[in-house]
Parts: sequence; structure tokens; C-alpha cells
Amino acid sequence: MGNRVYIETWGCQMNLHQSEGIGGVLEQAGYRMVPTLVEADVVLFNGCMVREKAEEKLLGRLGAVAEEKRRRPLVLGVGGCFGQIHGRELLARSPWVDFVFGVRGHSELPQLIARAERNGGRFCDLPAVEREDEIPFRRATHVQAMVTIAEGCSNACSYCIVPLARGPMRSRVPARILAEIEEALRGGAREILLLGQNVNAYGVDRPEWGTFAGLLRRVAACGPERIRFTSSHPRDMDADALAAMANTRGICRHLHLPLQSGSDRILRAMRRGYGRREYENVLRVARDAMPGLNVTTDIIVGYPGESEADFAATLEVVETVRFGTVYAAKYSPRPGTAAARQVDDVPREVKEERLARVLARERAIAAEENARWVGKDVDVLIEGRARDGAWMGRADDHRTVVALGEAAVGEVATVRIEKSSASTLEGTISPAEGAVR
Ligand code: SAH
Ligand code: SF4
Repeated sequence: MGNRVYIETWGCQMNLHQSEGIGGVLEQAGYRMVPTLVEADVVLFNGCMVREKAEEKLLGRLGAVAEEKRRRPLVLGVGGCFGQIHGRELLARSPWVDFVFGVRGHSELPQLIARAERNGGRFCDLPAVEREDEIPFRRATHVQAMVTIAEGCSNACSYCIVPLARGPMRSRVPARILAEIEEALRGGAREILLLGQNVNAYGVDRPEWGTFAGLLRRVAACGPERIRFTSSHPRDMDADALAAMANTRGICRHLHLPLQSGSDRILRAMRRGYGRREYENVLRVARDAMPGLNVTTDIIVGYPGESEADFAATLEVVETVRFGTVYAAKYSPRPGTAAARQVDDVPREVKEERLARVLARERAIAAEENARWVGKDVDVLIEGRARDGAWMGRADDHRTVVALGEAAVGEVATVRIEKSSASTLEGTISPAEGAVR
């Protein structure tokens, strides 16, 4: 069989990053990545389980692979949280799936593919523990490097399948994290994005490795231009982490702090471990220390039992915090979670209406906040091209900027903002100081 691999990735940044690892491992083993299904000899789905919709869409896409497989030989492996949770049952349900893998053991994928090609029968490979392998990441961009600081999650948010799919939190050895960062920087990375389900809890399982705040300072000492991290947990975002954020060079003025709900009653039912007051207090301290901090969030609407008053409390927090971006979603029950044992009693139309309301409010707020930048200069890390030959990049606070003028990928350009919308700032790159005009 041929050596062309097509990887389709679903869900969060952790999955995107793990797909970079899968691509790297396979390239090292002599495979070649291709951008479409029709060109591929091997198709891998790195799938998501976090919401019902993601799951349904993925099942639909599997149908497209099944069709392709009717025409020619093709190996299909399905993994990620989707494979991890469905396991053997997926083999029974989807006869066109050759093998199932999960969230661990990706360095074994060349052997798994070879086994599937030998037609040794359909199988499921879900190792219980991972090895700390040296993964040769095939990074999607050289400007930003994603680096995992902890795997899994030890929280028990009632609605969430992530701990079931990924297991309890395991912090990674600091030396490994730092070595990976050094390597990315040698490869030209300008921005480091630290990944974990709950980055603030880094080291809680291994106190001898220090805290998240300590890690942030050590990452900054490696000298990247910019450092970001996601996701933070409101309960664990302590004063030391905020101080490290505020006082360490390179850490971006952006905090992704999932709220989930503004209602104390719902937050308790979700087992989030904080109330609205605590959430707002964290942001008060953060914004005092870091004026201009851009706060983004995740919100779930229509959690079981969510009343109009509960939802109104969420809208109030949206109003007072003025988030830069809200990633909002309708609640969907996930198999095996505590919330799935409750009746999913908020009707679909009500969920949809609440989702539309919260998103409309956030768009209006984001448009107002973005409009304040018109006429000002913003430092933008250029990530690539937008449409029409313009450049695309991000401000330190994570706002998307589209700019015309002289620049290069990976460069920090000063952009004079001329126009704004809810999602983007637009402007012109100022000539670099000392440049010949
Ligand atoms: N570890 C991160 C993100 C986990 S999943 C955190 O704690 O923030 C990403 C987002 O998906 C969550 O923040 C939540 O808003 C959403 N989500 C998780 N489970 C969900 C469910 N059952 N229904 C709808 N949205 C869900
Ligand atoms: Fe899921 Fe909560 Fe863990 Fe985030 S913190 S991954 S929402 S259990």
C-alpha cells in the first residue's frame, strides 16, 4: 500500500497539537502527509467527544470515508477522545473502521497502520499509560509552537467527558517542557502556547516540580517573544500566577478564563468550585495588575435546570466583564458524566434562543471594544496572509489584526488601526524605525 496519510482533526487545541505529533511520528517513519481524503492511502481521524454535535459531524464524515473505501483500498484509523470513549463498540458499529486508537500511544501509530495493512483483523489499541516519548512534532506553523504542560484533568465538572477520555491530570516534567520550548525557539518559533485542561493546576500532582507560576517564569527565561496559555480555571488562578503573568516579560495580556455560567446555583450543579463573586474577583485582581487585559471565555447555555433567571445572571457577567470573545455552546449530555444522569430539560428552542442572545450581546460588546483601537498603534505578530494580499496576525492581547504593508511572517509589526469589526482590527503597517523609505 502507498504511504500517503490524511489526518482530520476535530475539537480543541490539545487535539490539534496531538495531530502535529501524529504527523511527525508518521513522517519520521516514511509516510507523507496529504491535504485531502481522495489523495490518501491512510486516513486518520483525531476525533472529539466534547459535545454531541462534534460527535454527529464526525460520524457523518466517516460516511464519506466509507464511500471512498468502496472504490479503492484505504486504511482508516479513528482516535482521539472519540476513539478513546467509543473503543470496541466503534468497530462493531462502523464496519469500515480498521482500527481504533485513543489519546495515548501515538508513537506506535506506524506499527498500528502496518498491522491494519497486513489485514491482521480489525483492532482497538487503547494503552492505559503513555510513555514520555520524544515526539518529532510536525508543527502546523513555525510562528507559534504549542507545548503541552499537563495531560488529562482531575476536575469533575458534571457535564464534561474530558476526564473520562483523558484520565486524571499528569503534569509533564519541567525539563521536557523546557527542552521542547528551546527546540521550537531554535526552529524559529516566536510564540509559545502552553496547553493543559487546567494549566493553573500544573504541579499539583508533583509538588517537587513547582507551580504554574514558577513554570511561567522558567518558560519566559527561555526568551520567547510571546507566551500564551490555555485553559485557566477560575478556582485555581491564584495571586502568584497572576503576579507571574503581570511581571514576566513576554506573557501576553490575554486570559482565557472559562465562566460556563453566571448563576451560582448552576455553577454549584456543574461542580465548578467557584461562584460568580469569586470569578469576578479573580478578574478584578487581574485587571488591576494588567490594564487592558483581554479576557475570553467559554459559556454553556441550557444546562439541566437552567432557568431564565440563571441565564440572566450569565448575561449580567457578560455585560460586566466585557469579554473579548465568548465561545458559547448549547449543553449536550455526554455519556458517563454526572450531568447525563439528569433530565436534559431545557428545550432545544430555548437553548438556541439563549445561545443567540448571549452571542449577539458579546458581538456588540466586542465591536465596541475593538472600535476603541481605531487610530491607535498595535504590535502584531504576523502569522500569515489574509485575503487580498493583506497580512494576518494577532495583537499581544489576542485580537485578530489584518494589515496592509511591508512585513514578513514571524515579525512583530506596528500597525496603525483604521477600521474595526466585532472580530477583527484592520490597518496599515508602519515602516520599521530606521527603514529606508
Ligand atoms: N479544560 C477546559 C476546556 C474543556 S472542554 C476548561 O475547563 O475550560 C471545552 C469547553 O467545552 C468547556 O469549557 C465547555 O464550555 C464546553 N463543554 C464541555 N462539555 C460540554 C457539554 N457537555 N455540553 C456543552 N458544552 C460543553
Ligand atoms: Fe472538563 Fe472541567 Fe476538566 Fe475543563 S476543568 S476539562 S471542563 S472537567
